[in-house]
Amino acid sequence: MPDFEAARRAMVDGQLRGRGMLTDRVLDAMRRVPRHAFVPGELDVYAYADSPLPIGEHQTISQPFVVALMTQAAAPSQSARVLEIGTGSGYGAAVLAELASHVDTIERIDTLALHARRVLAELGYTQIDVHIGDGTLGLPDHAPFDAIVVTASGPTVPDVLARQLAIGGRLVIPVGLDPDYQRLVRVTRRSDAVFDRDDLGGVQFVPLIGAHGWSC
Ligand code: SAM
Repeated sequence: MPDFEAARRAMVDGQLRGRGMLTDRVLDAMRRVPRHAFVPGELDVYAYADSPLPIGEHQTISQPFVVALMTQAAAPSQSARVLEIGTGSGYGAAVLAELASHVDTIERIDTLALHARRVLAELGYTQIDVHIGDGTLGLPDHAPFDAIVVTASGPTVPDVLARQLAIGGRLVIPVGLDPDYQRLVRVTRRSDAVFDRDDLGGVQFVPLIGAHGWSC
């Protein structure tokens, strides 16, 4: 049995702290979440590697540094209500839940959503609700959100999601037309109609498929 605790400490100290961009609050959250519980059993020895990994259905669990970076950009406070789009394995939702008060997460592929729901329940994440459906529509009945994190890349920032932010809330999403390269964008809602936009750098994500994303 691999020493997952030691591997996780090495991941945080080497890959994450070593890049010098992350706060202690985010590093502590990354230290608490057992990533090996979210990857397929045969890949658990690679769970703390500096890379994404396949989780089935042609989808991936994102690279740990990217999860940490998106979490930091979303900056959830302890009382925050967060929406994640693209549950995948459930790992990103768990990291967000370490910092926020409640996380709603939406996955379009039901087998992934059901698996993530089971893993999150087994780990005791009672503050996370996993929904099945098209996350590009958001969750209007649960809005507004203090932070929205989209873990798949769309052609544009969906306006419908930006409008589900609370005033001061942040939407973090990879955007671009190239399947191999997108820009990570943060949209901050300054007032009812004013949205600021920051470019956080280059990334590569699987496509966001839905009514306000790609069509297939
Ligand atoms: N946060 C995930 C994790 O920690 O494992 C990473 C997930 S993966 C990079 C992106 C996920 O977004 C995939 O599981 C994919 O099925 C999902 N996805 C793509 N379009 C979606 C949509 N419109 N609504 C919900 N999920 C979507």
